[in-house]
Amino acid sequence: MKSFLALLFLFPLAIIAQVSDEEQLKSFYDTSLLEGQSYEWLDHLSNQIGGRLSGSYNAERAVRYTESELKNMGLDRVWLQPVMVPKWTRGPKEYAYIESKPGAVNAVNICALGGSVATPDGGLKTGVIEVKGIEELEKLGREAIQGKIVFYNRPMQANLINTFEAYGGCVDQRYSGAAEAAKYGAAGVIVRSMNLRIDDLPHTGSMSYGDLPAEKRIPAAAISTQDAELLSSMLALDDSIKFYFNQKCQVFPDVQSYNVIGEITGSEFPGQIITVGGHLDSWDLGDGAHDDGAGCVQSMEVLRLFKETGYRPKRTIRVVLFMNEENGLRGGRKYAEVAKEKGEQHIFALESDAGGFTPRGFSFDCSDADFERIQSWKSLFEPYLIHYFEQGGSGADIGPLKGEGVVLAGLRPDTQRYFDHHHAANDTFEHVNRRELELGAATMASLVYLIDKYGTASLQKIKG
Ligand SMILES: [Zn+2]
Repeated sequence: MKSFLALLFLFPLAIIAQVSDEEQLKSFYDTSLLEGQSYEWLDHLSNQIGGRLSGSYNAERAVRYTESELKNMGLDRVWLQPVMVPKWTRGPKEYAYIESKPGAVNAVNICALGGSVATPDGGLKTGVIEVKGIEELEKLGREAIQGKIVFYNRPMQANLINTFEAYGGCVDQRYSGAAEAAKYGAAGVIVRSMNLRIDDLPHTGSMSYGDLPAEKRIPAAAISTQDAELLSSMLALDDSIKFYFNQKCQVFPDVQSYNVIGEITGSEFPGQIITVGGHLDSWDLGDGAHDDGAGCVQSMEVLRLFKETGYRPKRTIRVVLFMNEENGLRGGRKYAEVAKEKGEQHIFALESDAGGFTPRGFSFDCSDADFERIQSWKSLFEPYLIHYFEQGGSGADIGPLKGEGVVLAGLRPDTQRYFDHHHAANDTFEHVNRRELELGAATMASLVYLIDKYGTASLQKIKG
């Protein structure tokens, strides 16, 4: 009875007492790990819906599903922002083989690159010329390349600790390889998959023909790393072998889709907007669990954690599920365009688009003054072993928001396994670890909370 009275006495005090930052962060982590929602959302997105290529029926279903889940959360506003997106379809499964002599063939694993044209009816069979990069084309010249398939085989560099750097060192082959080879009269291109492992899965991804006219466009496909090694070794023995591939991908006119947006309106500064997001579209080979279903559900979870822990933000916290990051970035551009039109003041934007793996910290695209301020919060993240803060990039979808006074950031999970799955058929739900996903969501909520509470250095500069 005595303790009950003491409780009654203490209760009003407890309400007035400021919750410390340490306590608030702990309650985000506790809530995420003990009663998180992100994993169930991801299960639905991955297993009930599946791959969500822009312009597809599944992308549409993902829009409807996440919109209704945001509504169920009781946010202050939920809406769809229309955006026109490209529509490209893969068609039936691609088929390819290496022919060492007439009748002697080895089937190999390929997939069309996103945006590629089809092979001619019946497929394309011709000689192959292997290169380690676009720069070799000029040295070889038109005579060597004309009518052949250019095989780009520069592997990702395995001794780079950040695998995104290794990706960045190779991805030009995939993105511009076809456009460049077409200039020398190539008939098609085959690109070694962006994968550090040697395995049988081809990895797709976006490519561009630049300003190449339609009749000059040549088909482009990725080949698994295992089969890239095979093709390379067979070419070393006999450079007259032939490669056959058949793909029936198609480009359609743009279709309407949506960014899915929800917000908690700020209690003191509703005009100051903090955005947290990921991209809702994905490639079609897997179910897009890591790229970027994880980032979407973590971003949704940030707002849910605010509500569950009873934290009322001073500024407006907005979750944005961007459409079409993979093959167009139309959603990110549209969001920034509308924000500008409306004169919205974005003070901070955070994206999670590097897989649902163990979070390590964040990368910040911001002024030195802002970075200094953010670094002073690092010790708060130390109990969770998540305190790697660096200045650098942020996220593709929030990039268009860049400008005076806005701090951009990207969640940085461990990268060692990301490219085992990236854009391949094994980017699936079972490869996402529940705890790792939840730790990421709590980490994002923690940073958003600190920015909401203390503002940014740039904001103070504007005010001062
Ligand atoms: Zn992504």
